[in-house]
Amino acid sequence: MHEQHIHLGGAVPSSVLWEILCDNGLKTEFIDFATFHSSLTARHDEVKSLDDFLGRYFQVTEEIQSSPSAASVSAYQVVAKAYRRAEIQELELRFNPHKRVRHGLHTMDAIILAVMQGLERASLHYGVATGIILSLGRDLSLESNWQIIDAAIKWRSRGALNGANGVVGIDMAGPESRALEMSKPWMSEVAVMMEKARQAGLKITYHVGESEATGPEGMLRVIEAIHPDRIGHGIELRNAKGKTKEALVSLLREDSICLELCPTVNLVTRVIPDYACMGRFVRELAKEQIPFCINTDNPYLIHTNLKREYEIVGAQLGNDAASLLDLGMKYAVEHRFLND
Ligand SMILES: [Zn+2]
Repeated sequence: MHEQHIHLGGAVPSSVLWEILCDNGLKTEFIDFATFHSSLTARHDEVKSLDDFLGRYFQVTEEIQSSPSAASVSAYQVVAKAYRRAEIQELELRFNPHKRVRHGLHTMDAIILAVMQGLERASLHYGVATGIILSLGRDLSLESNWQIIDAAIKWRSRGALNGANGVVGIDMAGPESRALEMSKPWMSEVAVMMEKARQAGLKITYHVGESEATGPEGMLRVIEAIHPDRIGHGIELRNAKGKTKEALVSLLREDSICLELCPTVNLVTRVIPDYACMGRFVRELAKEQIPFCINTDNPYLIHTNLKREYEIVGAQLGNDAASLLDLGMKYAVEHRFLND
């Protein structure tokens, strides 16, 4: 199994984060582990939207992971747990280094190196191929995002060592509600950033069409401006109509852009009403020959793992489950960012 869409901020078990928090003596509002664990469990009846989800949990996890030692332990544990729960063979871990420098106390270089070292240990211990995708932030300034691009190029993969690839790609993440993709100046600057990364040998993925805030129109803008290799979610394609739908379907198919599907998180953030909706979407993608892969996004916030996400989608596909899930795995292999 290949995990290609998983965030460091939502993939570390609360027990590990609690140990880091206590060992570092961080002052927080959490009085004990039970309160802490409960606060890091995203429940469908509590989460109001994607923005609410992003704002509610990540500030806490990113703050705890904001030191080289914490980042290294966290990265290691993501792979170790994913392997033990779902026997994954490959994992591309994404995170925003700028959000882990603790207000300038640490350098991004130190954080990226620490995550690389954590993943090297995990690759060696569990035989899992790993790589890093650095996430830009819609909620960061363009200047800060340029710093992440420069850091990604500086630390880009020079080939895998014992399965550990280093930095292999760039992502765009953060709240969709500001609909920055509709702003021409912003989008053209981001396109220049992404092109610089691509020229340095990095692959591109981009969170868009995860909610109606960017929607099908946002997906179209991103594809036309950036030509990403993959798209984070793109579930809003299901709501596209008319000429926008025609253009999206043809671009996704012709340019072979893979949609990274994450079923449970879409349900928790109320983007889809039920899993049946995801099942119908997978059938539609297969029919239109649009590449897709299945992922977890934030497994420890939503209490899932990759094996479970496959089972969830499979349960909606009836007799076609085996062939459609195999197709998803084939697309995942074809669209991997890892070098070997
Ligand atoms: Zn995501």
